[in-house]
Amino acid sequence: MTELLAVALHDVEPRSFSRAREIVTWLADRGVDRVTLLVIPAPDLHPIGARAPGLAAWLRYRVACGDVVAQHGLVHRASARARWPRSAVASWQGGAAAEFPGLSPEDAARRVATGLRLLREIELHPRGFVAPGYAYTRALRAILAESHDWFADVRRVCTREGDLRAPALCLGSSTKLKRSLSPPLIRAASRATGELMRIDIHPADFDLPGHVATLETLLRRADGRKPVTYDDLSSKQGLGLPRGPGQPPGPSLRGSGHDEGSEAAAGVRSMPFA
Ligand SMILES: [Zn+2]
Repeated sequence: MTELLAVALHDVEPRSFSRAREIVTWLADRGVDRVTLLVIPAPDLHPIGARAPGLAAWLRYRVACGDVVAQHGLVHRASARARWPRSAVASWQGGAAAEFPGLSPEDAARRVATGLRLLREIELHPRGFVAPGYAYTRALRAILAESHDWFADVRRVCTREGDLRAPALCLGSSTKLKRSLSPPLIRAASRATGELMRIDIHPADFDLPGHVATLETLLRRADGRKPVTYDDLSSKQGLGLPRGPGQPPGPSLRGSGHDEGSEAAAGVRSMPFA
């Protein structure tokens, strides 16, 4: 069975544009020629199409080269305040980026739809979604089951054909503790990856030599794996990965039966360091 490598580049937006370009080149130099670009449709409420036409053009070019674009929230900033303890979980998970916890289902649906529309207006057609800070709510999962072909949390990729269990190897840079603890933890976790290895890269990782060294180690460990996008994972059939137990096709994406409370608690335990 082919072993796969899915690399996701987070937080692609005007401020990270030049860094994102460098990272894509850095990855190509290391044999990773297919990347999933997580794009923020309207950081600070400014749609990227109007604010950064150069970024929009580059994203279309990258898609033509084989990368894919996925929607990364709408503004990538928390605006509502979830009830405790969800708020505590959300702030651990995504800090100020946790956009969806605390929103009403209607607000969440509006944000998902607006982000999708803004990306489509610049000829990008994301099939997938990753919540900022990996902070999901039950309502958001239900919305995404209708609006997108896949969405990914820190432990699995949820597709219309079922869930793929694979932890995201994700370094943290938002606090000193995360900066120092996450590299050894992620290195250790990478030894236990199965058929699918998920590596998350944040533009801020490249401010930290220790993070870059860790990413080099992960990519060395991934040597021989086939680079794929998350879109590849969602339209699967050919990839031959086992699905999670009890996840029949179709409806599994819809409710998934995930209880938000236990989901959130599990997220705390396994949450890397977004
Ligand atoms: Zn993000």
